[in-house]
Formats: sequence, C-alpha cells, structure tokens
Amino acid sequence: MSIPTPSLGDMNLDDFRHYGHRLIDWIADYLEHPERYPVLSPSQPDEIKAQLPTTPPQQPETVYQILTDFEKIIMPGLTHWNHPGFFAYFGITGSGPGILGELLTAALNVNAMLWRTSPAATELEEVTLDWLRQMLGLPATFDGVIMDTASVASMLAIAAAREAVEGLAVRTKGLAGRADVPRLRVYISDQTHSSVEKGAIILGIGQDNVVKIPSDDHFRLNPGELERAIKADLAAGHHPLFVCATVGTTSTTSIDPVPAIAEIAQRYRLWLHIDGAYGGMAAILPEMRHVLAGAEQADSLVVNPHKWLFTPIDLSAFYIRHPDILKQAFSLIPEYLRSAETDAKIVKDYMDYGVQLGRRFRALKLWLVIRTFGSEGLAARLREHIRLGQQFAAWIDESPNFERMAPTPFSTVCFRAHPPRLDDETELDQLNEALLNAVNATGEIFISHTKLHGCYILRLAIGNIRSDEYRVRRAWELLQGQLALLTEMLP
Ligand SMILES: *Cc1c(COP(=O)(O)O)cnc(C)c1O
Repeated sequence: MSIPTPSLGDMNLDDFRHYGHRLIDWIADYLEHPERYPVLSPSQPDEIKAQLPTTPPQQPETVYQILTDFEKIIMPGLTHWNHPGFFAYFGITGSGPGILGELLTAALNVNAMLWRTSPAATELEEVTLDWLRQMLGLPATFDGVIMDTASVASMLAIAAAREAVEGLAVRTKGLAGRADVPRLRVYISDQTHSSVEKGAIILGIGQDNVVKIPSDDHFRLNPGELERAIKADLAAGHHPLFVCATVGTTSTTSIDPVPAIAEIAQRYRLWLHIDGAYGGMAAILPEMRHVLAGAEQADSLVVNPHKWLFTPIDLSAFYIRHPDILKQAFSLIPEYLRSAETDAKIVKDYMDYGVQLGRRFRALKLWLVIRTFGSEGLAARLREHIRLGQQFAAWIDESPNFERMAPTPFSTVCFRAHPPRLDDETELDQLNEALLNAVNATGEIFISHTKLHGCYILRLAIGNIRSDEYRVRRAWELLQGQLALLTEMLP
C-alpha cells in the first residue's frame, strides 16, 4: 500500500483530527474498564522487544498501523497503574483533567525556561503552586517550584543547604582538593527514601557522610539519636548540614516528629527538609493537617501531586523558604538567555531554580486537576482512600491468620500472614512471599512488599482514583483465599 506523504511538513491535519478523536475514544473506553486487563503485566523479559523490528522504518507508516501494533504488542506489556486493583508501591492516577492538561501541554509545546518564553506558563506555575500551598496549610513564606520528581527536589534542597553555608563557596571552588572544607553531614533515618542519599552522592557529599539515624519502634526518626549524632559529629570537627524529616515514609508511611526535629535543626543550624512526597498531601484534609505540624519551620518541603493528587506523572511541588538561595546555587545566565524583564527583576525565570533549562508546561495539568475536582473534591477522594485503608487494617487486626506490622496513619497498610502455630521467621517469610506471588498472579490486584526488622512484609497502598470498597474487599478475599490454599499445602 502506498502512503501519501505530499510535503515535508507535519502529519496531515485531517489524519491528526481523525486519529485524535479515535484516541480520545480509545482512552475513555480504557479508563472505563482498565480491569479488563491483568493489573500486573504477565510479560516475560524480552518478550516485547522480540516483537519489534530491530531497525527503524525507512518509509513512513500510517498511524493506523502504529496504533494497531500499540494494541497488539505494547498493551500486553503494560502494568496497569489505572487498574482499580493497583495497590503496589503507591497508587497513582492520571485523571481525566490531568490527561487533558498533558494533551494541551504537548500541543502547545512551550518551553517555560524564562518568563518571556511563555509568560502564562511561569505565572500559572506561581499561581497553582500557591493554591496548593494554601490547600496544604503552609505559610505564605514558602515559594513553589515545579520539579519532575521528589528525588530531584530533595537533591536541590541539599544543594541549597550547602549554598547557604557561609564561606563554603562550593559553587565556585568545588569540593575536591580542598583542605579547608570539613566533612558535610546529612542526617536521615533508616526509613528515609533512597533519593535523599542519592542526592548526597550526586552532590559530592559522599555516602559515608549520610548518617542514618535509627528509627523508633514506630519507624519514626528518633530526635534524641539525631542530636547525639550531631554532637558526635561536631566533636569530630564535621559540619552538620542537612536533616530530612519524612511525613509518610515509603515502607510504612510513618511520620517523623517534625516539631522536635525542627527544634534541633534550629539549635544546630541545619537545613530542615521535609519529604512529604506521599503523606504530606494528606494535609489538604482539615482533619489530617496535623501531619505537617512543624513544617512551617522547615527550610524546604516536597509533596507529589503525581503521587496522591490525581496528576499524571511527572509533577512534584517543591516549596522553599529561601528561593534566593536556590537561585544563588543554580542561576547562570548566558547572554543569549537574558531578557529585559529579567534585567529589570520584575519576573521569575524558573530556569534559575534548578538544573534543567528546558521546562515542560507542567502547571497546566495541575491547574486542570485542581479546578475540575475543587479542593474539597480532592480532599474527599483522599479521605475515602484513608477510610478504605483503615477498614482494610481493621480486617487484618480482626483476623487470626494475619497481623499488622506497622501503624496505618494514611491509606497504606503493612501486614503479613501469620497463621496460628507457624512461628518460624524463615517459614513466615517464605509463606508471605508465596502469598504475594499468588495474589498478584490472579491479575485482579497488585500488591508489593517491604522488609521491616528483617521480616518480609506485605504492603497494600490505596491511592488510585478508581480503587473502591469493592476492590479493597476483593483484595482481602483473595489474600484469605490464597492463604488457605497455601497453608493446605504446608507439610
Ligand atoms: C515516592 C517517594 C519519593 C520518590 O518520589 P519521586 O517523585 O518518584 O522521585 C520520595 N520520597 C518519598 C517519601 C516517597 O514516598
């Protein structure tokens, strides 16, 4: 079949319109019933690659051909994060308004590096992040910047902390070959997300200078241990630089005691960063606002609308009380990026507040999400997730065959199967791993695991907009049913 490609321009706009409409229909059908697919892809390693040509097509292909292959080859290789039974890691949602926002962002394709390169992109970013700040109950002393991920936001927080230390001048002098720089120390807990440690690695702080403070029996950073570590470091001539408190740790969603940590950070002049990537978002509920108690004293904070605010990945909201320090760390303006507005200091150029120059117009999707659902609608959805999480936790607590392994402050439950008279830890680990694989193989739900005190723990995290009571109940039925099958098979 010959394909008409009459010009050197973009694809034919009639085709664009035709396939654009069909694609929206396809997406709506998909989102209506994502549970038609197994939530966890059954694909084996290299199975998808084997179906794709190893060399690029030399001649144009039709959108029809490409979309046919998408359905036939790509779809079976997807794990369905939109599936209502997606309870692994943290559930996320690319909601309708978020998807429409992404579509517009791609279509406009503006680069929001300077105010001038799209004034509306910069100003909408300022406004939407200020809306979100108000929803979270944070004071107006915080300025927001949209980042791709919490990982990058936390790295930038460490960079800002380092920039804030007088006389260090790492920006100009670097760190290598200097005898005048003490070891810079970064404090986290043994439950802190790996991204903070990674940030310290990237910035040349060094993994050996990331001090992991033991958590207490509820997996919270222990402030007494933090102070002890800071004192020991000071005695050794090190420079305590940065502490990260987490609101909703990744394994158990524990909440570090921010007010006590803030007090220590202030006393020893450390930069306090709050990682609220998941749990911080719960502060949009008036009854959960306490999870960010003490946050007003933080130097920086990150929450992830792409995690628990129905915004398609990626969009992290990075709040900082000293945007000037972030700018001091990262602003570098070559002549070709100067503008009259910048010189007059009357606008914000977001390229000055991070690593990347080119910036997607991410604010648009968050604007659509907040406006479409309203702050109360968003809060109501999170509230329902928390209710479902608490209900699941109660079922675990009432069952003689299961036990809860951590407190459940949000919508994520850590538990394991523990049938009566089976007390060998190795056997329990094996049983729970087998149970995880068995329920995930049903295709109806997907849960993940973690390790706590060396034990294999199951994790059910509710965060997808389509996860409802029916599906959580179904998860509970599957867990009980598969456990019964597995324990029947025990010798
Ligand atoms: C998910 C998560 C992260 C990582 O978020 P990204 O945006 O994927 O980098 C960091 N910290 C915590 C506590 C998280 O739950």
